[in-house]
Amino acid sequence: MAIDADFRKNRKRAGKQEGIAIWGPVNPPEMLGIRGNAAGVDWDICNGCGICLDVCPMHVYQWRETPGHPTSDKKAFPAREIDCVQCLKCETQCPEQAINATFLGPQSWWEQATVYVMFLQIIGGIVYGAVFGPYWDFRILQYLGWVVLAIGLPFFFSPIIYFQKRGKPQEGKTFMLTTVVVDKGAYGIVRHPQTLGCIIVMLASMLISQHWAAIIIGLTLSVLFYRWVLTEEKGLVVKFGDDYKSYMQRVPRMNLLLGTVRMLQQKK
Ligand code: SF4
Ligand code: SF4
Repeated sequence: MAIDADFRKNRKRAGKQEGIAIWGPVNPPEMLGIRGNAAGVDWDICNGCGICLDVCPMHVYQWRETPGHPTSDKKAFPAREIDCVQCLKCETQCPEQAINATFLGPQSWWEQATVYVMFLQIIGGIVYGAVFGPYWDFRILQYLGWVVLAIGLPFFFSPIIYFQKRGKPQEGKTFMLTTVVVDKGAYGIVRHPQTLGCIIVMLASMLISQHWAAIIIGLTLSVLFYRWVLTEEKGLVVKFGDDYKSYMQRVPRMNLLLGTVRMLQQKK
């Protein structure tokens, strides 16, 4: 019997082990439930073979002793699931189909808070500018802000547009779990169009509102997002290997001007 792919919906949380979610039912030592969220392991199925520990490029799994359990006395524990790059090597190679890995978006409270603050900056700045006019009264900059907003929005929604069509997500998985490098459309101009879209839309909010709060938050988050991209790229190289390295040589990270010039040159 394989792990329930919908365990995040179908099972109830039964606490945490070392900060990692436990999904019930649990009745040790015979019934241990599922450990993990981004990389969930059904401990009642796991036979302790160790394949997932060997194949995971991010060293997500560690052993935990489970004496008295009917299938094995040690289990794969997703101690570093926060580092999971969703390559699915563990899931596809687990002989017992005991693993389900997925993309869950921002996980830590501060990452989630950052996303909320971003939406607050965008919506707050745009509504403020539209209702009260620009704080510093530079109307020409506000008009420019609306143009910048129109440029940024398609980049902002780029994963929805391109990942579903081109990313070849596995059946039953979210479209964010691409199995191939997507290098078409916005992804043919820059490697991180969604993050670039966030930064452009925040810039639009700054120009439209011209409010100091929107500017401080927008600039701070832009720096933070750029740092996230640098970290994310390391994971993408691990996940896609040479395909991603080749993509890195062809397409700039977030330089819109360079990306547009390169794309136009390729089309000639
Ligand atoms: S590959 Fe599967 S059965 Fe083997 S240790 Fe990992 S989770 Fe358990
Ligand atoms: S999906 Fe890949 S990175 Fe994530 S836990 Fe499995 S093997 Fe490791």
